[in-house]
Amino acid sequence: MKKIKTKLFILAAVVIGGGIVFSFILSKREARPNVIFILLDAARADRLGSYGYEEDTSPNLDAMAEEGAVCLNNFSNGKYTLESVPSYFYSRYYIKSLFPADADIPLQEPENLFHEIDHEAVSMAGVFKEAGYRTVLFSAHPWLVRGHKLVEDFDEFYKVKERHSPHADAGTVFKRVENWLETNPDRPFYMYIHLMDPHTPHERKEETLLFADPDYDYQAKFDRHGNPRGQFIGPYGDWRVPEDFTEEDRNYLNALYDGDIRYSDRCFGDFVRFLKKETLYDRTLMVIAADHGEHLGEHGLSQHGGKAWDAVIKTPLILRLPGKVPAGTRIDYFTENVDILPTLVGLTGVSVPAGKVFDGDNIFELTPESESAKWALTRESIRSKEFKYIIDKETGEELLYELKEDPAEKNNLAEERPEQTAELKNTMERLLSRSKERYSNAVRKSPPRLPFAIPAHYFKLESKSPIQAIRKFNYPWQDQEIISLARSKPVWIHNSQSGRDFILGFNQTGLAPLSIKFPVPNGEYRVSLDCPGAESIHGYPGSVFKISPGSDKTGPSVQVNTGLPSARQRVDLGIVRVENNSFETVINPVSEPSWIMIRYFGFEPVLSAAEAGQIDSEEAAERRKRLTALGYAQ
Ligand SMILES: [Zn+2]
Repeated sequence: MKKIKTKLFILAAVVIGGGIVFSFILSKREARPNVIFILLDAARADRLGSYGYEEDTSPNLDAMAEEGAVCLNNFSNGKYTLESVPSYFYSRYYIKSLFPADADIPLQEPENLFHEIDHEAVSMAGVFKEAGYRTVLFSAHPWLVRGHKLVEDFDEFYKVKERHSPHADAGTVFKRVENWLETNPDRPFYMYIHLMDPHTPHERKEETLLFADPDYDYQAKFDRHGNPRGQFIGPYGDWRVPEDFTEEDRNYLNALYDGDIRYSDRCFGDFVRFLKKETLYDRTLMVIAADHGEHLGEHGLSQHGGKAWDAVIKTPLILRLPGKVPAGTRIDYFTENVDILPTLVGLTGVSVPAGKVFDGDNIFELTPESESAKWALTRESIRSKEFKYIIDKETGEELLYELKEDPAEKNNLAEERPEQTAELKNTMERLLSRSKERYSNAVRKSPPRLPFAIPAHYFKLESKSPIQAIRKFNYPWQDQEIISLARSKPVWIHNSQSGRDFILGFNQTGLAPLSIKFPVPNGEYRVSLDCPGAESIHGYPGSVFKISPGSDKTGPSVQVNTGLPSARQRVDLGIVRVENNSFETVINPVSEPSWIMIRYFGFEPVLSAAEAGQIDSEEAAERRKRLTALGYAQ
């Protein structure tokens, strides 16, 4: 602790003197430091040597950490990419989810469609562009695509792909970056590099062998991509490991992951050698961070998503800038990914555009006594050094952990300690209130431009037949309980389990029509229906339903045949004009007996030819394949 205090003192001196130093530097524009922000998707802090890991996963990252600052208690503000990336791009706890230009994947909660980015927000690329920096983005993530709001602010965007892999590896990405650097940097640049190597699939590679038990038979519990054979439980990569997952299996999962980190580290080391050769290394603010961590068997999970447990929110943050960040700085107080952008602004001395504000702070201006240095937040959790509170927004379930006694977050004390639980919840709401207010006030004025889909979770249903609400991970034909329920009487079943949600009608005789309603912004859309087909399900033949989209119930209807054998049937329902910010439709059984299952409605905004030209359907199909391989879709 004493050591940390001394470092902080030195740091304080640097920060206090910063004004004078910057006024000198800014008079010589070319002397401003470049920024290279390397994002290791799904990298956990505790798997790096600089964070105390005992395996030799990160010699090159550790060497950089020695020469800069390590934020020992850094947290991401989201549990998966879609939640986390916009958050640090804009330094916002609450921000509209910025979905990609992909016709197939972006399931949306309707609320998100009614929001814009608030007018006080500015992205990292926006800040540096305004300051005269050349801004460039290299991404191996299939979600960052042209036309995407997160990409638009950059001057240049390079999507790095590999033909036979869901993502380009770090070596390939750094090669592209090096080519760019060899020809381009005539003025200070801000570069964001999104690497996917620590992300699932954790393919077995040369580096795996450094950490794995050579006698372990990995083929029984892992598929050929290095994923534990388990059960998909959510749309954001959540995956349950098999019930009989042993300590050896877990060790192997760890070895695969450590191999991914070690591989990323090797490529990073080569890149640093390149930067030194080009005399760029000491003129560049280097940043290493992650958008979230990864479950490695904790809570019976692999991949990420789930709840805000430390495995997914405790992420690395390492910064190096000689002359500004003293070597060996170790920051013990809490920092968060929303602090990254304000910290980069502080260290480079660029100005924040007028009227723009960040939710986070420059970490070098915090002290251990600052309120924000005591807490880490996501939208549904708050953590201090001693405690963590989590609320499940879907079920209302609350969790409270005493972290010193229970670092693995296994023993939920919420019921036992209602007062403490309520107090932490109040603190969380208080600290998030400004961000939430900005988000709530940022109401969308124009219709969405990109396709989206609304999953069954958000449907409001009405029918003369009973509607049975359930929450299940299983699809109906894998679950005897659902099947018997459906057969017992004419009933519509509504599964609201996120990621597995559906409407199911088993029509024996007398199943009444079902009216479905949910919020969609006004506009004109080509509407489709995701409705899996099969010749018959448990003896019930696929059959014909009449669907009348649009609020005009007397309007034209479309016949849907669920008997066409296709696991992912997309039924085109034609062009629909949505008014009163509400989409309505009626599902009418025609033949008996029969069945229908609906997972979501897709909405493709009707665009002008110029707008439509920006979205490439072949690209979208290819991206879908990559996202599936990354565990983001089935
Ligand atoms: Zn991610």
